[in-house]
Amino acid sequence: MNKKIISYRPTWAEIDLKALADNLDIVRRRLNPSTKILATVKADAYGHGIVPVARKLVGCGVDYFGVASIDEAIILRKDGIKKPILVLGLILNQNIPALFKWQLIPTVCTIDFARKLNKYANSLKRKINIHIKVDTGMARLGVDYRDADELICKISCLPWLNIEGLFTHFAFADMDWEFTQHQIDLFNNLILRLSKKNIQIPLIHAANSIGLLAYRNSHFTMVRPGLVLYGLHPQGHMGLRFKPVLALKTKVIFVKRVPKGTGISYGHTYVTKQATNIVTLPIGYGDGYPRALSNKGIVLIKGKRFTISGRICMDQCMVDVGNTKVKIGEEAVLIGKQGKQSITVEELAQLAKTIPYEIVCSLGNRIPRVYLNF
Ligand SMILES: *Cc1c(COP(=O)(O)O)cnc(C)c1O
Repeated sequence: MNKKIISYRPTWAEIDLKALADNLDIVRRRLNPSTKILATVKADAYGHGIVPVARKLVGCGVDYFGVASIDEAIILRKDGIKKPILVLGLILNQNIPALFKWQLIPTVCTIDFARKLNKYANSLKRKINIHIKVDTGMARLGVDYRDADELICKISCLPWLNIEGLFTHFAFADMDWEFTQHQIDLFNNLILRLSKKNIQIPLIHAANSIGLLAYRNSHFTMVRPGLVLYGLHPQGHMGLRFKPVLALKTKVIFVKRVPKGTGISYGHTYVTKQATNIVTLPIGYGDGYPRALSNKGIVLIKGKRFTISGRICMDQCMVDVGNTKVKIGEEAVLIGKQGKQSITVEELAQLAKTIPYEIVCSLGNRIPRVYLNF
């Protein structure tokens, strides 16, 4: 940790930017050299901090960024990031001017939006790159694959729009091999039909992290990893050795000896079985540490694994450390390594009955991010 004080409460997350760079390399080694990489940095780079993460990835030669909204893209532009940015989420008609002001690439799935965009581009006499999103089975955003030919033909006649990209998204790449192959087939068939009509689109993309790992034929000309860049593994791919980027740490702020039969925290859902040492940690669900981890979450103190005792409060939680002697100020690791022990986001997600994405995205602003290895 940095020597200077980053917050008065000793709870922080360490973001290892070298691990991020290494993970990008692992991805790159699985691709053809010509395949482009769009780094998905939505939701504050999955809670890792969009600006430092994007800066590092620019330094590592990433080609593109993907964000959820115009607001997220503006954060990157204000930081001086010049790379192309694809806004993956849908854009309201009234926000078209912002796309031009900030040089952003919209996702387009309707002719109505395309015409409004074309009209505005015409008024500025400025062409704009767009990516068309096709729904091949996710039923979230996109033109239905059966209607895609018609939409794309119509859009290709709009002079101020340049169809730079065409993409789709997998609904369950982590679970259903056959369905994902079916989505890839539908997408391939569309590309084939378009090429027969002489419509060539340079950037064709479909694969998120699991897609690019598990389906070689899903790479097309660009891939869109998020999860694995942050060192988190899609289910069933734990063997791949992506490096965790985020560690979550705090320090013991209170220690007490309590007798057998002491109820701990709200509702006394944990009662001590013998006289024991209870420590208090300054982190809770108000920080995004899930309350679902009450009596389940693991904490490393003095190189040992302990389970959180009782309900997690908004700002604090307690841990029964038995007869281990723990002093105030002792470091406690909630995600990451201490000595020979480690706790992964994947493990916590399983304990909380959620997915790794939600664990990291939920970590709040109250937790300062400390960046290592710029
Ligand atoms: C979030 C997202 C991704 C990245 O997914 P990961 O599973 O994190 O790799 C890719 N594409 C789209 C459209 C997304 O919304």
